[in-house]
Amino acid sequence: MTASSQVSTIESAPGAPADTGGCRFCGTTLHHSVVDLGMSPLCESYVSRDSLNQMEPFYPLHVYVCDQCYLVQLQEYVSREHIFSDYAYFSSYSDSWLEHARRYTEQMIARWDLTSRSSVVEVASNDGYLLQYFVAKDIPAFGIEPAANVAKVAQQKGVPTLVRFFGRNTAHELAAQGRLADLLLGNNVLAQVNDLNDFVAGLRILLAPRGVITIEFPHLMRLVEENQFDTIYHEHFSYFSLYSTERIFAAHGLAVFDVEELPTHGGSLRIYARHSEDVSKPESGRLLDLRSREADAGIATLTYYTSFAKNVEETKRKLLDFLIRAKREGKVVVGYGAPGKGNTLLNYCGIRTDFLDYTVDRSPHKQGKFLPGTHIPIYHPDRIRETRPDYILILPWNLKDEIIQQLAYAREWGAQFVVPIPEAHVYR
Ligand SMILES: [Zn+2]
Repeated sequence: MTASSQVSTIESAPGAPADTGGCRFCGTTLHHSVVDLGMSPLCESYVSRDSLNQMEPFYPLHVYVCDQCYLVQLQEYVSREHIFSDYAYFSSYSDSWLEHARRYTEQMIARWDLTSRSSVVEVASNDGYLLQYFVAKDIPAFGIEPAANVAKVAQQKGVPTLVRFFGRNTAHELAAQGRLADLLLGNNVLAQVNDLNDFVAGLRILLAPRGVITIEFPHLMRLVEENQFDTIYHEHFSYFSLYSTERIFAAHGLAVFDVEELPTHGGSLRIYARHSEDVSKPESGRLLDLRSREADAGIATLTYYTSFAKNVEETKRKLLDFLIRAKREGKVVVGYGAPGKGNTLLNYCGIRTDFLDYTVDRSPHKQGKFLPGTHIPIYHPDRIRETRPDYILILPWNLKDEIIQQLAYAREWGAQFVVPIPEAHVYR
């Protein structure tokens, strides 16, 4: 044992806070807990049948807020290479997400006059779910995606894709080849970046002088106010408000000039940013409006975050109340979907096959596997028709309307739909 580990053993007496490291953006020591969801496995580590009898790594899932920049964050408990190099998430398995991507491309082409001489670059382009719509309109586009298995699917669709993590190095390399972006986008990637400063600095390097960045991420204000604690998982290192995002971008010479509030993922922001020197794009009314709403809510004060943990505990009790009652009445409850958020919810609440017989998912990459930690089996959606359960717990509650529509046939035998967040609710 080294001298330094002896010291840390003494300091880590029971009751002393864990060594949380510094803030991912500003380096300040983190002192303020937002919520502690206990120990949880990596939510995308689906378990195959032949691994069911083996040990499974669990990591702390404890969220902090920085008292200097108000970035809400998790430590990087697991390296990004481990999490993202063979990712099971294929964006194209959700109809509503594809439609969202298609509408976005039309909007951007019209608003920024994109043509066959423009250049569109997407960071974390997944399976080409979005860029395929630019390619179809003959607008030059390419993606940057770290997961080789996912990038391969994009290439098969005709979307050029570089298999790489994004940051300063990748951006410099592309800039040196003259491949600057007129439109540079990233959807649901910012939360998954551990070296935030390297990533945002890379955005600036790759952006053409008059280019536009759009970034979408779940809005912290929706997470806190609607109790969406299940969107917290190890793969999501940071949880952003407009406030914290503007600070981070400004530190790298980028200015946010517009923002849209979107219904996706339980409530997301799409921010528009430009080079700080590019004065051709003034701040929009909706930017000023959201800035003042966040300020009024107290997003840059510690008190804003204090009641969240209590609300999370109450949501757990309400869901367990429902499940215990249903099981005592002899009802059959199954899940729908195997999203990352479902795994946080089920592990935190301690829900295994004692409550949920199984879940189903449309992705063939998940069927036949088991949920991490809880080992609930994942089947093809046809299983629901075959077994006629009494209740269907919708784990991707952000898609509940789409799913209830898809499963309308289950009402034939009187099945009811249950959504766990913001609190357990049965749709009759
Ligand atoms: Zn900070």
